[in-house]
Amino acid sequence: MYSPLRHLPALFYKHRPIQLTYFVTRQCNARCPYCFYLASKNDTQQNEAELNLDEIQQVSNSLGSLLWLAFSGGEIFLRKDLAAISQIFYRQNKPCIMLYPTNGMQPQHIKNTMQQILETCPKSVIAVKLSIDGIGEQHDGLRNTPGSFNKTLQTYHDLLPFLERYKNFELGFNTVFCSENQHDMNSIIDYVASLEHAPLHTISMVRGNLNEPHYKNIDLEKYRQASERLASNMKKRISSLFRFNGARLKAAQDILQRRLIYATLQQKQSQLPCYAGLVNLVLNEIGDVYPCEMLHNSFGNVCDYQYNIQKVLKTEQAKIIQARIKNRQCYCTHECYMMTNTLLNTRQYPVLVKEYLGMLNGKIS
Ligand code: SF4
Ligand code: SF4
Repeated sequence: MYSPLRHLPALFYKHRPIQLTYFVTRQCNARCPYCFYLASKNDTQQNEAELNLDEIQQVSNSLGSLLWLAFSGGEIFLRKDLAAISQIFYRQNKPCIMLYPTNGMQPQHIKNTMQQILETCPKSVIAVKLSIDGIGEQHDGLRNTPGSFNKTLQTYHDLLPFLERYKNFELGFNTVFCSENQHDMNSIIDYVASLEHAPLHTISMVRGNLNEPHYKNIDLEKYRQASERLASNMKKRISSLFRFNGARLKAAQDILQRRLIYATLQQKQSQLPCYAGLVNLVLNEIGDVYPCEMLHNSFGNVCDYQYNIQKVLKTEQAKIIQARIKNRQCYCTHECYMMTNTLLNTRQYPVLVKEYLGMLNGKIS
């Protein structure tokens, strides 16, 4: 497996991106009213072509090695060349982890694509995260997609055999925590825990500028309770959940991260310095580069810089935005950035170590 230790200098000096979130498409076969990405669409983005394989090859070539590559969208499996895109990054950037979030609505296609990816990318951890925002009709209603719950479960069952066949495969669920499902979190969490193989389960706080902002009317206390329930369920299933070196550390970091999200929302200010734009980057489907998913000021577009992401990082615009982030002029609860910001902040290490040791002993504080 590709070792994360290769990235220690980058983690220490924070001088180059090692985590990329790549929005491969804006197309989606669902219409979730709390989707920040579809809501952020403007007419220009709607009409521009997605980067093609040749362009992606050049962007990837300019990036250097990656610790973590997260695909995003839109529904990523609507990009029919997702396996080919994965193989480009695998060959050139050797990511330790490649993450595939999906609404799971195309079971057969997802299974075929994941098999191709798992066959051709054996040294990266390949993680699929299926969306589950309610149980049965609640899920379908929230996402405006009749029948989607059953399709997502079908995808889960279709992918389960890969856990045995491919030792680098990880399969889990993610739930968007929003106003409409916050009262049902206990049952959603327990439902996922009761599924065959009791998969990993995470929750993401609803985020971004939404067409229907009332989805962000959340009760922080309910979020805290849901976080504790997830941690407690994890404790009961520690040995079956962790298949990889470093997975216990990630689980300990998850617990710490949910506490930081709670504190961020409670105090309405950032809890940690943010390294978005230095260590993390976002690339969208038409080539715009951003420091993170929340800020809408682009560093530039790779198409204007010979598909060289290093050149985009040196633009005047990039320097201005990086300076604003350094001065902590923004805050958010985005889990991906919380993760790197926690792992890069030595002040968090005592708590992290405490949670990690708790994992080893089967205890969670
Ligand atoms: S499935 Fe994902 S990308 Fe599609 S509308 Fe829902 S949240 Fe947005
Ligand atoms: S704090 Fe959040 S919004 Fe601000 S740069 Fe970091 S990730 Fe982006």
